[in-house]
Amino acid sequence: MRSYSLLAPAKINLYLEILGDHVTGGDDSRPSGFHEMVMVLQSVSLSDRLHVRASGTDAIRVHCTHPQVPDDASNLAYRAAALMCKQFPDCFARYGGVDITIEKQIPVGAGLAGGSSNAAAVLVGLDLLWELGLTRDELQELGAVLGSDVPFCIAGGTALATGRGEQLDTLPALTNLSVVLAKYRSLSVSTAWAYTTYRQWFGDSYLRRGGDLEQRRQQVHASPMMAAIAQRDNSKIGQRLRNDLEKVVLPAHPQVLQLREAFQRFNPIGTMMSGSGPTVFALVESQAQAEALQDKVREAIANPDLELWIAKFNPSGIQIVK
Ligand code: ATP
Repeated sequence: MRSYSLLAPAKINLYLEILGDHVTGGDDSRPSGFHEMVMVLQSVSLSDRLHVRASGTDAIRVHCTHPQVPDDASNLAYRAAALMCKQFPDCFARYGGVDITIEKQIPVGAGLAGGSSNAAAVLVGLDLLWELGLTRDELQELGAVLGSDVPFCIAGGTALATGRGEQLDTLPALTNLSVVLAKYRSLSVSTAWAYTTYRQWFGDSYLRRGGDLEQRRQQVHASPMMAAIAQRDNSKIGQRLRNDLEKVVLPAHPQVLQLREAFQRFNPIGTMMSGSGPTVFALVESQAQAEALQDKVREAIANPDLELWIAKFNPSGIQIVK
């Protein structure tokens, strides 16, 4: 049986602005339950490794030893395989089901899109296994059915994401930055909780008129963060980091705020929570600086529950290993 191994990188948010409620298009436009976002997403080298193999049976099976990762139909990798079986019934009939093994390195429930990246890897892996020859756009369209971050995870690199996060514009690749990531092992934040709480607290200030939303999206295209990325000006990128979800996650989890402050004390280029947290990252310009910063933070917060990782900015998303 043929198999493929793939690397599925984590992502961080260099910018996350919530504009308002996302509405479905068309004449009967109504709230979709998602938010209308502007984000700058960046792949980093901290990656899960997935093995995708045609099983010859009619089952989809997920193997993962991580205690927080489900091995049933709720696993995003399983859902990606199920979607492919539904979309391509002839391939499913010919090749049978699929065995997916996930070697987890990306922390779970961390704001690093680990599950979304796993789903992206399964889409890419099955495209290869079934010799479908899907284009990147076609894979991303399938990914959008599974989750807002999945289309980005397929292509990776540096991208501006709008809509509910699935509409992507590629930005100039930022390859000369490293990142230190930190998370308390026992702390996870539910993405759904973070967005629901944000809506409760800040829903009054949401942009509601289509024209206002469009104007804000245009402003962001010409914003200082976009200019900093276009110029690959690392210190300006660091100054312009933004994450609206910090406004709900930091008050609820003071240890995340404390972690961010600990990073800040050692003057990285910039520091911010990623996605809905609770991972905090700090940007630096070299591996040596990353190692020094990691040591300092570990010394400043002598808590065995704190985990730290060093990663580089990644120019791409899912990569085939063999
Ligand atoms: P995002 O940044 O996209 O919100 P996250 O990094 O906060 O995602 P994930 O690690 O993707 O969160 O996992 C969130 C939840 O999804 C967890 O409760 C986990 O049990 C479940 N889950 C389902 N499939 C996976 C998977 N393949 N990998 C990790 N978690 C998964």
